[in-house]
Parts: sequence; structure tokens; C-alpha cells
Amino acid sequence: MLRADERNIIENSIRDIKDFPKKGIVFKDITTLLNNKEAYATLMNHLASRYKSYNLDYIAGIDARGFIFGAALAQMLGLGFVPIRKKGKLPYTTFSEKYALEYGEDEIEVHIDAFGEKKGARVLVIDDLIATGGTANAAAKLVKKTGAECVECCFIIALNFLDGVKKLQEQTEVYSVIEVN
Ligand code: AMP
Repeated sequence: MLRADERNIIENSIRDIKDFPKKGIVFKDITTLLNNKEAYATLMNHLASRYKSYNLDYIAGIDARGFIFGAALAQMLGLGFVPIRKKGKLPYTTFSEKYALEYGEDEIEVHIDAFGEKKGARVLVIDDLIATGGTANAAAKLVKKTGAECVECCFIIALNFLDGVKKLQEQTEVYSVIEVN
């Protein structure tokens, strides 16, 4: 469990940037969390303590901010890290999954052998933020396509005024450290 003072440290380190990348969006800037050693350590220690008993095999981070938290967490837990990347970046054979954006669509990929030969590897997917849930839904589907199990999707921030979490909960467990209402 995250103590109230720990939650405050993390929450207060996240900067709101109004009208970025376009008018009407409040962008949650996590660079001010990352360069704050107390906030970054508080967050990572919390995640490590939550997930140490989950019997995980891999942490999968979503391109690109999910890599920062995912790679650090994998190292803390003694697990392997798997990048889920935007289309065209991974060099070996991939599974891919399309998802809708506000305008048009995007696509993410994972290496077909990223979670090992054995089926049913236990995987935690992590990203910095869930908004509409399109990206995370596609990521969870990708994990399943490889034959692995998506045990949970974890976010530092959930925008609860959008229904991304609700949609994602139809296919996996969801945990968010900070909820924005
Ligand atoms: P979505 O697929 O709509 O859930 O969007 C999630 C992805 O978009 C994440 O990788 C976030 O990093 C990014 N994102 C969406 N909205 C915001 C926001 N308000 N502030 C920061 N990042 C955002």
C-alpha cells in the first residue's frame, strides 16, 4: 500500500502542461518525476514492493515512457524486460496490433519470441499513463498473441474521466498509482 505522504511526493512531482500537444489537452509531464530522486525512488520502491509477490516472469514496457519505468522495475525484481514498440522499430519477426487514435490509427509490435519458448509466461505490462486505453488494450492483446499471460497492466497515472481503465478491465487486471478524476 502506498502511504499518503508517498502518494503526495509522487503526485506533486508530476507537472501539468496545458494545451500540449494541442489545445484542450492537459499533458502529464513525468520528466519532473524522473529528475526528482525522492519521487522516482518512492515510486519505484512502491512498484517493486507491490509486484515482488506476483511471481512474474517478464516486465513489458510500452514505447517510449513505459520503457523508463519498466526497465527499472525489471532490474529491481531480477526479471527480464521486453519492449513493446511502435511499428517498424523491432528488427526480428513480430506480432502486431492496430489500435484507433482520435484521428486514424497506430500500430505496436512485439518480437514473437520475446517471452521465451515456454507458453504461459507471466507478464506485467507498464506505461506512464492510460487515457482512452487504446494503446494498453493493444499491448495486452499482443502479450496474449505470443502465448504469454498478461497478469496486470500498470500505470503511473490513470485519467479516470476517460473510460480507458473500464475497457481494459474487460481483458486484464489494472493498477494505477495516481488517479486523476
Ligand atoms: P491512450 O491509448 O489513449 O490510453 O493513450 C495512452 C498513451 O498516450 C500513453 O503512452 C501516454 O503516454 C500518452 N498520453 C495520452 N494522453 C496523455 C496526457 N494527457 N498526458 C501525457 N501522456 C498522454
